[in-house]
Amino acid sequence: MFDKILIANRGEIALRILRACRELGIKTVAVHSEADADAKAVVLADESVCIGPAASAQSYLNIPAIIAAAEVTGAEAIHPGYGFLSENADFAERVENSGFTFIGPRPETIRLMGDKISAKAAMKAAGVPIVPGSEGRLPEQPEELKRLAMSIGYPILIKASAGGGGRGMRVVTRDEELLPALELTRNEARAAFGNDTVYLEKYLSQPRHIEIQVLADEHGHAVYLGERDCSMQRRHQKIIEEAPAPGISLALRQKIGESCAEACRRIHYRGAGTFEFLYENGEFYFIEMNTRVQVEHPVTELVTSIDIVQEQIRIAAGEKMSLKQKDIQLRGHALECRINAEDPFSFIPSPGRITQYHAPGGPGVRVDSHIYHNYFVPPHYDSLIAKVLTHGATREQALARMRIALSEMVVEGIKTNIPLHQVLLQDSTFQEGGTSIHYLEEKLARDRQN
Ligand code: ADP
Repeated sequence: MFDKILIANRGEIALRILRACRELGIKTVAVHSEADADAKAVVLADESVCIGPAASAQSYLNIPAIIAAAEVTGAEAIHPGYGFLSENADFAERVENSGFTFIGPRPETIRLMGDKISAKAAMKAAGVPIVPGSEGRLPEQPEELKRLAMSIGYPILIKASAGGGGRGMRVVTRDEELLPALELTRNEARAAFGNDTVYLEKYLSQPRHIEIQVLADEHGHAVYLGERDCSMQRRHQKIIEEAPAPGISLALRQKIGESCAEACRRIHYRGAGTFEFLYENGEFYFIEMNTRVQVEHPVTELVTSIDIVQEQIRIAAGEKMSLKQKDIQLRGHALECRINAEDPFSFIPSPGRITQYHAPGGPGVRVDSHIYHNYFVPPHYDSLIAKVLTHGATREQALARMRIALSEMVVEGIKTNIPLHQVLLQDSTFQEGGTSIHYLEEKLARDRQN
């Protein structure tokens, strides 16, 4: 096992990784920007290193500074968390070439799955169901393009192969729009991702977002830890996640889970990962894989009692996974509400000083957060300030516990989206379960009219 790990991230996930290290008896190095000098993970870590100014490009994305910090502190491995450099294959490669262990998949796997066209092709070959669409490079000829689009059937989604964070996508409903929309999406993709490769996919009208959590080790062993339903989204950003996914039969969930575990074995996947699917009319369609730990991983931890971050570290250390598929039992129901520093209805970010903070508690409540009384939420980063999770024997109990937890939670001095969560927790359609990825935006539009 490692003696010392460097945490190349910030916020709640830096703290989450630190706690996993502590439980495993591993020393920690927190790297931070000038704006995060008083972050909780920085204060709690065994050592800390300032790697640059507030702007992420000069700190949390500064590869030479992070590797230098690992060198001066004698860390053996680097955990990238989520976001920032976590899915950057060049970073993973440089970490390994500098003699450190990257806690995540091999660079070539990150590269394969980071390109959505090659990821879909790999998944198709491994027997995972994918969204119907173009395969490989798009034809050059306008007439051929139109024929291809026609065969997929409108509406069609144009997607950037290098896209991420819900950007680089455009829906096309009619033949006349296809060519101009392709041009526009290519230009945007070139500007945003430095790669203008795009592809076509059938646009599903009322899908749910269901994802499968997997763990795989170096020794060819892979398991799935059930699924999460992350359909409550705004602008493709998840805000509530839960497990299990309501209303989908166990047999169907096991079948898709097993196909993901099998895909991991085929591509020699290593570490924790998530296969994202759209689910519509009883069918799963693969859209992409995240080759890292996800924000919503604790939802799965609550229903499986497996510590995903500790498993990541053990796998990276080369250990053989002791988990067997038959030992993985899902127990009860878990929910996560992402608490953001933003106006609950206009969604305008609300950084600033927290003048009062009271965290909720009680049976079945977990709060993953880096904030504290008098903490200053910096304006430079993601607005996530806390993840409130509840676990119950049933979905109803998890929902009831969440309502109570949020009613107890006090964050003053900044705005948060707690009031939006409270509205959703009272919403009868959400209470029934199984809403589509468009539900939140449609509801917000309706509520604005009334
Ligand atoms: P990103 O890497 O930007 O997160 P994804 O491929 O995961 O991109 O897609 C993000 C979101 O876009 C999905 O969660 C879903 O809401 C929507 N989406 C993606 N593909 C489709 C599709 N074929 N039909 C309908 N919605 C889609």
